[in-house]
Amino acid sequence: MDSQIETQGIVIVGEEICRQVISRTDAFAAVSDVFAAMARGDAYNFPVVREAIGHADALYGFKGGFDRAGLSLGLKAGGYWPGNAAKGLTNHQSTVCLFDPDTGQLSALVGGNYLTALRTAASSSVSIAHLARKDAKVLGMVGAGHQSTFQLRAAAEQRDFEKVVAWNPHPEMLPRLQAVAADLGLAFEGVSPEELGAQADVIITITSAHQPLLMADWIRPGTHIACMGTDTTGKQEVDPALLARAAVFADEVAQSVSIGEAQHAVAQGLISEGDITPVGAVINGTHAGRAANGDITLFDGTGVGLQDLAVASVAATIARERGLGEVVRL
Ligand code: NAD
Repeated sequence: MDSQIETQGIVIVGEEICRQVISRTDAFAAVSDVFAAMARGDAYNFPVVREAIGHADALYGFKGGFDRAGLSLGLKAGGYWPGNAAKGLTNHQSTVCLFDPDTGQLSALVGGNYLTALRTAASSSVSIAHLARKDAKVLGMVGAGHQSTFQLRAAAEQRDFEKVVAWNPHPEMLPRLQAVAADLGLAFEGVSPEELGAQADVIITITSAHQPLLMADWIRPGTHIACMGTDTTGKQEVDPALLARAAVFADEVAQSVSIGEAQHAVAQGLISEGDITPVGAVINGTHAGRAANGDITLFDGTGVGLQDLAVASVAATIARERGLGEVVRL
């Protein structure tokens, strides 16, 4: 038995292999399944560790968890090294370690950089699939950094969008979104944030902002907004009054009120933890989701470790099946 387990070895799945083996459809299914498992109580995230390590200005930490239904156990280790870009490296660096839940043996090491973008885009995309109006035609993008193009591509698959309206605090970054919109055959217009609110049926915010970029009065009834940038204490993308007006959903409620977009509305007493619904409950059918076409729905996508484990498990399984990636033994 021991020798059988040993022959499995640890599969090492690099960034390039991740790009080859996992599709947006795979990521959507994996993230949707794990959100559903979380809402059922079959999967839970461990407390997040995030430390300023006092070297290279780096933030480093771990996000882990266990999904009893999908049988993924492990952690994503990594963080942010602001000096990396000058060395030709990505500032965000992460690696996923997967363990066999039956034995505790390390089963896979998976590059986490591409997968982080894929699973974050899958998260907003799952929220759009379940919460946006079916007749949504205009997609609003706030943010034009690394994550934004992944967000746009994934969102575009969820509704029959005709047009993208976009705003970014640094307008010189917008052409990267325009190029993706063109690739998808969608009209594109750079607009002011007020105009974005006036036109968009679905909005994604994916910035590093620390103050509201969209005010509550600018958002039309019937809009779905996925707030994806706020994943740390102090970050903020929208007016807290918007959360008081909206039906609020989250990947994980505990994270939403502590490090997500809801932290500000909760601190100001505008909403409480009990007002936020895990999106997994909508996926499972235990919550109806959008109640009326005129409602504003807001998804607070804070990013949980179980998302990383879910997509990394898929990548590791496919890589093993196709004989890709090195297999090593400790
Ligand atoms: P990036 O550095 O490539 O782009 C940053 C974006 O934020 C750009 O649009 C930039 O113009 C804007 N920006 C920068 N400083 C700003 C400021 N002070 N005020 C307003 N906007 C500002 O980053 P990225 O990789 O695209 O990530 C964007 C955000 O998403 C980051 O905050 C990141 O931490 C967050 N993120 C969240 C998740 C999640 O699961 N929720 C996952 C990955 C990244």
